[in-house]
Amino acid sequence: MGSRACTDCTTAPVMKCGRCTTTRCKRHALADNRRCDRCERDWQEEAPTRRAAKVIFAPPIAILAGGLLFGLLLPVSFSAIGAAIMCALVCGIAVGAGAGACRLVDHSSRVMFLRERAGGLPAARLLSAPKR
Ligand SMILES: [Zn+2]
Ligand SMILES: [Zn+2]
Repeated sequence: MGSRACTDCTTAPVMKCGRCTTTRCKRHALADNRRCDRCERDWQEEAPTRRAAKVIFAPPIAILAGGLLFGLLLPVSFSAIGAAIMCALVCGIAVGAGAGACRLVDHSSRVMFLRERAGGLPAARLLSAPKR
């Protein structure tokens, strides 16, 4: 991350942080999915919340996916080899589903973060009453 005392960022900006009003010069221009240092810090501070969400969402999804597959493959499990394969498969899918849920939480919260605007919310406007 560039130095924060860059004068170009304020005097010759080429772009603006998508979340707040911080301007950036050409050298410090932010990538599409990046926000300014201050906003990224906000993002980092929300990490515990996201972790909590993962802890809540990942296990049920993993259990659901594993259980679903278990039911689907139940007929195969009557032979010893089939049961072993099924076990491995169910475990793999369950872990994969859990990891997928974590990624989903990460992704959707990031999308929400990139969409939100700190302090830049448009002022509420009163709709003028229709004239009669
Ligand atoms: Zn700069
Ligand atoms: Zn910002």
